[in-house]
This record gives sequence, structure tokens and C-alpha cells, in this order.
Amino acid sequence: MSQVSPGVVSGASYLALIRACHEGGYALPAINVVGTDSVNAVLEAAARNGSDVIIQISNGGARFYAGEGLPDAARARVLGAASMARHVHLLAKEYGIAVILHTDHADRKLIPWLDDLITMSEDEFRATGKPLFTSHMLDLSTEPLEENLATSASMLKRLAPLGMGLEIELGVTGGEEDGIGHDLEEGADNAHLYTQPEDVLKAWELLSPIGTVSIAASFGNVHGVYKPGNVQLRPEILKNSQDAVQKATQSGPKPLPLVFHGGSGSTLEEIREAVSYGVFKMNLDTDIQFAFAHGAGRYVLSHPAAFQHQIEPETGKPLKSLYDPRKWLREGEKSVVERLTESFETLGSRGRSIARKS
Ligand SMILES: [Zn+2]
Repeated sequence: MSQVSPGVVSGASYLALIRACHEGGYALPAINVVGTDSVNAVLEAAARNGSDVIIQISNGGARFYAGEGLPDAARARVLGAASMARHVHLLAKEYGIAVILHTDHADRKLIPWLDDLITMSEDEFRATGKPLFTSHMLDLSTEPLEENLATSASMLKRLAPLGMGLEIELGVTGGEEDGIGHDLEEGADNAHLYTQPEDVLKAWELLSPIGTVSIAASFGNVHGVYKPGNVQLRPEILKNSQDAVQKATQSGPKPLPLVFHGGSGSTLEEIREAVSYGVFKMNLDTDIQFAFAHGAGRYVLSHPAAFQHQIEPETGKPLKSLYDPRKWLREGEKSVVERLTESFETLGSRGRSIARKS
């Protein structure tokens, strides 16, 4: 089994990590972060569980990371993502695990965001031999396939020389995340939520010769957590896609690096089945947001006085040690570590880190 140095992967170490997932039959959780607290909680959880991990940021998360007070939102989205990436580059090595650094959904109007980030990766690559990010996602799933693939191909041409990958989406993930979303029609068959294996093959034949591409295929998965029953999960779509590509290209098993969006709220069986078909990345946003809120909220609710007064009104006791932000933010972090420990277990990545100090 190949080993990689601890820290952010790219190029050969990125490919080694995808291969380890496929060969080992496990997947890595991809967690959306919004600040240093969530990044650190993810790194802590990964290190404790001996798992590699994927850290990603959405355009809204990047804007928040840079600060909602910055007036130029477009600039803030770029700087926030870069700031997060630099934070992870600096710290991930210390935690001793391998990290895939990624940006989440970008539709056509967000291409300038990615273009600016790729320019930063090109500068970084020239200076250090490594890009800023491991991969980006370009989600043009609502556009005609030809347009989606043509634009994806031209972006991948910029990424490939940097050892970076591109994640695309075929078919649409239902629900909404960070302002990017698709309607779920109650009672309808929601056929647009299911990817066609022949589209996957077309994408693979065009993009894989250019560089490393991963595919978010839709098999009835939805963003967010909904009451079950509206959409039926059909993981066999993933298997059919792998089979179509394997047959056409005469490659080994599981040629496609597949991505599972909208994993929050899925059952253990559904997740394990999807992973067995070559999913190497499962996005987790909603469940982790809840975990952070739950941990911090539990603390706040059990010390209500400290969140309304600096000094306890009856006793005159100072409440500083209770309202110190480190106290309640830490409770959020601890709750995220706990929730992620479950995910590493479910995805089979526990104890499977391929990072070794050389
Ligand atoms: Zn998604």
C-alpha cells in the first residue's frame, strides 16, 4: 500500500488516496467548514480516528470565513477560501493525517470565484511545487450535458498541470444548500434526480484523459435532512455507471471516483452500499452543522445566566469563566468530533490513514 506525507495532498498523493479508498472499500467524509473552529474540530476528529479526511468550503462559507463585514463579497469569497486553505496547510501536518482540500458547489456564475482560486494555486505551485487546493467542484448539472462537459474540460485543463482534480455533477442533487438547489416535486417521479450511466460514460471519456475527475452522480440523494419517502434512493445507479465505464474502457474494477452528496440523514445500509460501488467521498454538511449547534447550544442552555449577565445578579459572582467563547465553542467542537467519529466508522475509514512521517 502506498504511503503519503501528512498534510494536504495533490498530484500523486491525491491519486494514491483515491486508490486506497477504492482498494480498501472505504470512503472519506467531506466536511463543510466555516471557520477555524470547524476546521480544527475536523482535524482533531480525523487524527483521533486515524483517518484521512476531506475539508471543503462553499462560496458562502468562504465569504463567512473572510468576514461578513468585508464589503466586497466576491473578493471575500476568494480570500476566505484562500485563508482556510492556508490554515489547513499550516496545521494538517501536525495532526499527522492526509487532507484533501476542496471547494463545494460552484455554478456558472461562480466560475470567476474558481478562476481566481486557480490563479492562486498556480502562483503557489510556482513558488512551492504544490497547489493551494487539491480539487474544486464545478456544478453545471442544470445545464445541457454538452455545455456542462465543455466548460468542465476547459477548467480541468488548467487544473491538471497543478496536480489538481475536478469534481463535476451529473444529474441533480435534490434539496438546497447554500443557495444552490433544485426543487423536489412531491408525488412526481423526480426523474431529473437520477443520473444516466451513459452520461457518466460520456463525461469519463472526455474528461479522464485530461486530468483527475470525480463525479457526483445523483441517485435520489438530497441536500439537507427531509422526511423520508419523497425520493427513493437508488444506489444501483452508481454500480451501473461503474459497469458502463469498466466495460467501455476495459479498465479494472471501480474506475470512477464517485462522490455522494446529500449524505446527511442516510441510513447505514444506504451509505455502505454506495461506498461498495466506489464512492470515495461523502459530503457531510447538515449533520455537522447540527452537531456543532447541539454541543454549543447544550452548554448555553445549561448556563443561561452567563449569556445574559457578566456578574450573577443574586450572588454577585463573576461569570467570566462560563461565557469565555473558548468554553462554548469548544463544546461545539467536541460534539463535531463525536459525530465525525461515527462517520469514520460508518464509511470504514477508521484506522486507514495512509499518511506516514518520512
Ligand atoms: Zn452537494
